[in-house]
Amino acid sequence: MSDWERLGTVFETKNNKYFYDTGTGKVFLCDVVESAILESLLTSSDPAAIAQLDFTDAEIESALNTVLALVEQEKILQAPSFQEFITPKKSELSDLISAGIEQVILELTEKCNLRCKYCIYQDENVGYRNFSKTDMDWETAKKALDYISQNVGENLALTFYGGEPLINFELMKKCIEYSKVIMSDVNISVSFTTNLTLVTDEVVEYLASLDKCSVLCSLDGPKNIQDFYRVTVDGSGSFNRAIKGLRKLVEAFQDKPDHSLGINAVVCPPYSMEKIDELNDFFKSLDWLPPDTNINCSYVDQGDIDWEQLGVPKQEISLEEFNTNEELADPIGAWALTAIDKDDEIKGMAQDISQTKLLRIHNRVITDEPTLGIHMNGCCIPGRRRLYVTTDGNFKVCERMSNSPYIGDVENGIDTEAVYRSYFEEYSNKSIKHCSNCWAVRLCGICFALCYQDDGLDEDKKVGTCNIEKAITKFYLQRYHQLIEDTPEKVEYFNELIIS
Ligand code: SF4
Ligand code: SF4
Repeated sequence: MSDWERLGTVFETKNNKYFYDTGTGKVFLCDVVESAILESLLTSSDPAAIAQLDFTDAEIESALNTVLALVEQEKILQAPSFQEFITPKKSELSDLISAGIEQVILELTEKCNLRCKYCIYQDENVGYRNFSKTDMDWETAKKALDYISQNVGENLALTFYGGEPLINFELMKKCIEYSKVIMSDVNISVSFTTNLTLVTDEVVEYLASLDKCSVLCSLDGPKNIQDFYRVTVDGSGSFNRAIKGLRKLVEAFQDKPDHSLGINAVVCPPYSMEKIDELNDFFKSLDWLPPDTNINCSYVDQGDIDWEQLGVPKQEISLEEFNTNEELADPIGAWALTAIDKDDEIKGMAQDISQTKLLRIHNRVITDEPTLGIHMNGCCIPGRRRLYVTTDGNFKVCERMSNSPYIGDVENGIDTEAVYRSYFEEYSNKSIKHCSNCWAVRLCGICFALCYQDDGLDEDKKVGTCNIEKAITKFYLQRYHQLIEDTPEKVEYFNELIIS
């Protein structure tokens, strides 16, 4: 085995072809022959493949000389063969974790008054917990908060999750009031996600009385969309109640600079740009929303879709189609780019998704020589910044990882051995063989949440996720360079942003 790999990818904007080199992070403009030669070098180890390309000998010779000069001078196509990820040492983990938990997420209840058709907790979804009648009790919540108070820094995001957390509003209030007492010197901001249907006058009055509070509201769009997907237990639509709840929150939070609202709309298949346009028009029509309301769109996790429930025929997209049709594969991202083109600055729907990915490309490390060492993609250090506490007092990595190995509990705190074994060792052992020869390894945002099950990393699920990640990363390379070509001043905007 050689100690380096030819890693990179060719991509194209409307007018140009480019080559991205994984080892150095550099991007080069190419002509059509250079691009074909680079593609051939990336996909075939047979030098004769270049001679078979559909160009004249003179064209091939000239382009080959350019590529060889780049190999020589710019050190392209020489990414080191990685044998392991850069990870914290086992002995460092305790210190890293005890450096200060920034967010605790308490799962107040597993109950929900809605039965959204795409929800992972539907009874049909094997592999996830289902809706149950379990609430967190005060004793568990108190132990969790006592533990947090021993491991917190200057600031704490106290977050509530469910089910629908407002079902257990009494416990929410008790947790907030207790936290204020035991962490009186900590700057606490309260946040939670809600389906809006249980927002009452009593709820908004209490929330408005807090120093800082932000609420993420789940609202999928106009009545026809919301009422089709987000239904109550008896099957009726939730739009009217949700809008009523949202209006109450807006009124209660007005003139409160430290209170904020965000909206998340889940977009269901079949996907199209028109669908995102419809959502955008709807949210724009809510002229009573504060102008700074962050409205975000997200996809349903394809792996978890029950197509029958969603009322659409199963959409089979081949990898080939996924790789080549960005409006089919990533309509939210494609839509966001048109929004960037239209607006003076990036704002509104889909901004989070597109900004994070464009920023990753904008802020990539570019080096003269190929960089040694790779990090574990987009993975966090479990337990370091955030901690998810289940209704029964077990610790998980985050709210996106309801089915994943525990990393401790309220009785014993974070188990660093479990963190190391289940997350660093297992992820490294099962992923390095894929990542070490993946062109996207320096731009990849895959984390545990996308590939773990209760018993650890699910390799098949991860490979499927990797295919999507690579296709989408390539779309974003194209989008970023299209932006540079069309409106370079908009790329400057990224210099002021940081990846969260
Ligand atoms: S989403 Fe991924 S990176 Fe973020 S906390 Fe969860 S597991 Fe970690
Ligand atoms: S896409 Fe998959 S194989 Fe490629 S770097 Fe990311 S996690 Fe590794």
